[in-house]
Amino acid sequence: MEIQVQELNNQNLFIKDSEVEQRNDLIKNILLYKVDLTLQKGTDYYGTVEIHLHLQDNRNTDNHVQIDFAGQKVDFVKIRNIDQSDSQFRNIKFTFERNRVMIDSEEIMQDLKQNNKISIMIQFKNQYNNTVQDRGLFSTITGENQYLYSQGEVASMHYIFPCVEQINFRAPFQLSLVHPADWVVISNSSIAYQQNINNLTVLSKFETTQPFPCYLYGIFAGNYVVYNQKYKEKVDLNIYCRKEKAKVIENQIDELFQITKFGLNLMEEYTEIDFYMKKLDLVFCDNYNFYGMENPGCISLEEKRYIFEEEREPLKIMRRAYIMFHEIAHMWFGDFVSLEWWNNLFLKEGFATFFGYKAVSKYFSQLEYGIHIELQKIMILIDENKANMITLSHEKLPYYDYSMFKAHNCISYNKGGMFFQFLEQKVYGEQQFKELLRQYLRENSFSKVDEKSFLKYFKDIYSQKYLFKNHLSYFCESQFTDLMNLGLVEDNYKNLDLSFIVLSKINKSVINSKYDDLAKYSSIDNIILLNTSDNHLIFNRIKMEDLKFLDENNIIEKFNLFQRITIWNTLLFENIQFQKQEYFNDFFLRNLQYENNMVVLHYIMRIYPQFCKQFTEKQEDKIINLYLQENDIQKKRIIFKNLIRYINSEKNTFSLIQIYENQERKVKPKYLNKLKQKIKKIYNDSIEKITKLGNKQ
Ligand SMILES: [Zn+2]
Repeated sequence: MEIQVQELNNQNLFIKDSEVEQRNDLIKNILLYKVDLTLQKGTDYYGTVEIHLHLQDNRNTDNHVQIDFAGQKVDFVKIRNIDQSDSQFRNIKFTFERNRVMIDSEEIMQDLKQNNKISIMIQFKNQYNNTVQDRGLFSTITGENQYLYSQGEVASMHYIFPCVEQINFRAPFQLSLVHPADWVVISNSSIAYQQNINNLTVLSKFETTQPFPCYLYGIFAGNYVVYNQKYKEKVDLNIYCRKEKAKVIENQIDELFQITKFGLNLMEEYTEIDFYMKKLDLVFCDNYNFYGMENPGCISLEEKRYIFEEEREPLKIMRRAYIMFHEIAHMWFGDFVSLEWWNNLFLKEGFATFFGYKAVSKYFSQLEYGIHIELQKIMILIDENKANMITLSHEKLPYYDYSMFKAHNCISYNKGGMFFQFLEQKVYGEQQFKELLRQYLRENSFSKVDEKSFLKYFKDIYSQKYLFKNHLSYFCESQFTDLMNLGLVEDNYKNLDLSFIVLSKINKSVINSKYDDLAKYSSIDNIILLNTSDNHLIFNRIKMEDLKFLDENNIIEKFNLFQRITIWNTLLFENIQFQKQEYFNDFFLRNLQYENNMVVLHYIMRIYPQFCKQFTEKQEDKIINLYLQENDIQKKRIIFKNLIRYINSEKNTFSLIQIYENQERKVKPKYLNKLKQKIKKIYNDSIEKITKLGNKQ
């Protein structure tokens, strides 16, 4: 999954870790979720869930049996022994409060003791959620049309229907929907059977899925329009979007299918495991609080970012393909092989990130759009510097923390992805890494993994260390330094076949060198930089005098993309880890002109101001001039979009408002509002000026 913002939740109501343990003591496996929902137009729906439980052999039957449900109402709960085919459901007493359906074990003690397999049936009522901050089955209404979509990760399926909200139970999903006749319905599997109940209502039964954790179940319904193509004559591809977007999506639908096919093909070839479902849907959702979600067979994607209404910058084009590749990679990593628990989230998010960028760099190979992942190392550094930050594999956090996306951070995503890239490129080589991964997937198909499952195949010392320790190290004056005590020794670094950039101060030449050859360049006449865009997790320091030399001699002009990324990384590293310097900003401003890769330019402009010393008014003037003097339309647009991140002074905030208002191209109101907020801050007590500005529009 790719997340966007955090949700609100009430910790007291959330499933407790002790409750998870109790359930693990009782339930060995969940055999089936049979879910029948009646979806109505408007706000309400209702339904019945049957959960087939396989109980533990040595089970503890003293506690309540708890089913999670954060919905409106429970009508009844029934139980049946499914070992005996003639056993009937019988009503049982229950309480429904604090998001839990509790069944007193006294009442069903006999069932729990004598039977190994029981079915619990719950009939319930619920409502759609209209606000983005809520969880559950989301609903948006545009005029006559209504659209529903589900979002399960991390633990939100129990906001939709009663279930055992735990990733460690994989169960087949058997869904039936009764719905308005003019609605399209979508779930993980194909529709097996459809029948008109009357003129206005239809029953759609979906095929039973392979077993998946219930957070991956997908339910979508509404006035969606659909486009179809086939992948290799064997998989039906469907793209759904809201009726209102049909006109807009039509001119990009081929591109969207092409990206999907490219992603599927790459994953199939790499893993040697064919996509295991008959169809794959992409559903574009309105007002969606996430970038994308990897429900097997029905990926959901945020609509605004990925259905382009106008020409978009290369970063946005790259990012759209990346998210699609990321979610497609999850079909193998996360879905086909799922997690035992959330403390190894990197085993799904790290792999999805790794394959997402691998696919991007192949898909846009001529444009070199994939390489900017190397700049994202910086974000790992930020998270590793935080107190109590998780390691890739870590001691379990409270379940509630995972539900609030505490582990959905740069460690699980960026570091996970870069760590796998590091293993592939620096430790095993592409072929061996691929073969180990194939084996890992094959031997864990449709089951769960944890860190031990991974280490069974990847026995190198780097895996041992990176998985369990926070770590960053850097290269400075021919030395490697551990920043956070990973414990790598000189030989470990040597084995990584690192590459270096050597600059001669005498003839101003730039050459690449390997570690073993470095000795011959170690003189004061050379500047040696570690190539940080070389698939590893080591940073580089630079001496101020060396930076000035590069600057004064326009050396960056001679740099290729990898070398430029190294210098941007180095600049950010100095700012974050050591002292922020005004001079770094000057260097940045003077050398930005040499960045010709539009994705890197956009990305660096976006992240640099987050970490540097605040720009002086003079530096602000310079960046505004950079914008005014730029002739390349694409570059100008990228600088334009990012200007707001750099400007803080009163004078320049006003100039920027003028620039924005005089643009032919309409500026999004949110940019202007942000600027006006800045002014508001400056003139906290003078509302007049803002009112005047408002009237000017
Ligand atoms: Zn993901």
